[in-house]
Amino acid sequence: MSEETIFSKIIRQEIPTQLLYQDELVSAFRDIAPQVSSHILIVPNKHISTINDVTEADELTMGRMIIVAKKLAKEEGIDESGYRLIINCNEDGGQEVFHIHMHLLGGQRLGAMLSV
Ligand code: AMP
Repeated sequence: MSEETIFSKIIRQEIPTQLLYQDELVSAFRDIAPQVSSHILIVPNKHISTINDVTEADELTMGRMIIVAKKLAKEEGIDESGYRLIINCNEDGGQEVFHIHMHLLGGQRLGAMLSV
């Protein structure tokens, strides 16, 4: 598995970043360059580079990411208006940080899902 990214330092709080959520499996914090008014990243605490690297042992962690997304969407007040969850993988998927992260995006009407 490739090297840790800045997200591991955020998870360990070696870089001061406000955590919106943390438990033994996942952490969540606001995206540094928000694309919409609510833009949160939900990440596994363990370094996993891409979705291609997920194994069956990570099933609970990946499920927890969804549960936390749902909880944070409610806290942000966007659960009823709606939101989008995105995980990018590798170059064609637009992945820039190689530590799996789920984008929670909402707070406004989102455009077409894909711009290709
Ligand atoms: P992706 O293109 O899916 O890999 O998304 C990476 C996301 O990480 C981008 O939306 C960046 O704005 C965000 N990002 C990069 N560095 C940080 C950071 N230090 N704190 C919070 N978000 C970050």
